[in-house]
Amino acid sequence: MAKIETEVESFELDHTKVKAPYVRLITVEEGSKGDKISNFDLRLVQPNENAIPTAGLHTIEHLLAGLLRDRMDGVIDCSPFGCRTGFHLITWGEHSTTEVAKALKSSLEAIANDIKWEDVPGTDIYSCGNYRDHSLFSAKEWSKKILSEGISDQPFERNVI
Ligand SMILES: [Zn+2]
Repeated sequence: MAKIETEVESFELDHTKVKAPYVRLITVEEGSKGDKISNFDLRLVQPNENAIPTAGLHTIEHLLAGLLRDRMDGVIDCSPFGCRTGFHLITWGEHSTTEVAKALKSSLEAIANDIKWEDVPGTDIYSCGNYRDHSLFSAKEWSKKILSEGISDQPFERNVI
């Protein structure tokens, strides 16, 4: 018997075949009462070639929490991957990857162009678990880079929205 029996989809994805930045639907799960929850892979940088430094990723995380909710319904959570190449987005119901990619693009545009330090939520000792580790400068520069490459609504072909 293997030490871990459950196969996790993320580890089945061939990370050398994907073309970031992209949005990918990982799975739609249905609960016992019929409610559906979707899990998306928001891949911002190319796996094993780049990784967003922690402070910038952390600030992007705090900002996406509100910006994505302003732009689409049903957002449950958006949390960074440990590899620092992107985020999981968990939502109620089903959404097309095009809809998610548009919301992500608009959110990154807001970070790159509009957001000021006073706008970043949760940057003090009371509201964040590591408030010293933020960088809006890094968040803006990485957002600009991601936007300049364009966000595809599919992982293996470039179909920039
Ligand atoms: Zn935090």
